[in-house]
Amino acid sequence: MRARRVVIKVGSALLVDGASGRVNRAWLASLAADLLRLRRRGQQVVLVSSGAIALGRRRLDLPAGALRLEESQAAAAVGQIRLAHAWKELLEEADVTVAQVLLTLEDSERRRRYLNARATLETLLQLGAVPVINENDTVATAEIRYGDNDRLAARVAQMTQADCLVLLSDVDGLYSADPNRDSRAHLIEQVHEITPEIEAMGRGAASQVGTGGMATKIAAARIAVAAGCHLVIAAGRHEHPLRRLETGAPCTWFYPAATPAAARKQWIAGTLRPAGAITIDAGAARALQQGRSLLPAGVTAARGRFERGDTVSVLTTEGTEIARGLVAYSDVDAARIMGRKSSEIAAILGFRGRDEMIHRDDLALLVAGTARAGAGGRS
Ligand code: GLU
Repeated sequence: MRARRVVIKVGSALLVDGASGRVNRAWLASLAADLLRLRRRGQQVVLVSSGAIALGRRRLDLPAGALRLEESQAAAAVGQIRLAHAWKELLEEADVTVAQVLLTLEDSERRRRYLNARATLETLLQLGAVPVINENDTVATAEIRYGDNDRLAARVAQMTQADCLVLLSDVDGLYSADPNRDSRAHLIEQVHEITPEIEAMGRGAASQVGTGGMATKIAAARIAVAAGCHLVIAAGRHEHPLRRLETGAPCTWFYPAATPAAARKQWIAGTLRPAGAITIDAGAARALQQGRSLLPAGVTAARGRFERGDTVSVLTTEGTEIARGLVAYSDVDAARIMGRKSSEIAAILGFRGRDEMIHRDDLALLVAGTARAGAGGRS
């Protein structure tokens, strides 16, 4: 209830009615009502919705059981359009704009694409839309797939610096053993550290519908808590699953050690080998200490080979490293725009890039070699 930005992941088994192979409308409408309540409270909502393949395979009359890769890609093409339509119909009834975003693994693992996807999601949220995200299953082949939406949702939570990720699934949470086989099995309500014991419980869980079992949920929890995001696994099969969660339904919470902003800065500061270095003037160094972004005007030199999204060191004219950050331009472009005003970027490069060389959200100040945790925020 206190989270500012919440990512909600809905599994195929909840969204698609097993008997008819169609969207489970009554249930979806109850979830949409929950989402609207979050928004009325001022919380931002991001949806990660599965169900494209499940919806499409019925429409195409594909046989039950495992599909060939091309068949699941074809099913996704048919199902995604239906999935997006269902969300649009439900949310736009309440005048909430829905935005479809299809991601592939590379959008979170390749840094340049990561920055692009992140900027788009941020913009959609600032404009008040609800991003409805799925994997781009139609083009994603084995090597470039997340494969399950649990980990995709965790990457989305990391990318958007969400405070809370809700995995709605067909189980209540993490059990100490398989409750179908062991009468002593009990629900683990809180996890403060993902120990080998917790991992083992995840592997032992009963198999379920959908691609993501408990093991992928634990993997998602690892990503989320490292990014400073709370994660909760809860049953989604009842109507109003979020309201139930708020009123004490059984579930498993995973707790992060830091806030999203601090975790992100630690991650940037902890880069083992920055790809290059940028030297800045004294005025820019002062601006950075005050929590501001690094503008091209304050840059006096760029060294090394780097691409947009790579981590670079930020040096004073004396050569002291004072910060690290994800740079918004390649080394070649950085050299061309350094010392110039942001308003001149488009004329120099021929395209309109970001105003900042390194945005303050992507910048970690180093205090005697460590990140100043907690500094900064979203703009
Ligand atoms: N992206 C898949 C779909 O929409 C679902 C993956 C999953 O179930 O985790 O059909």
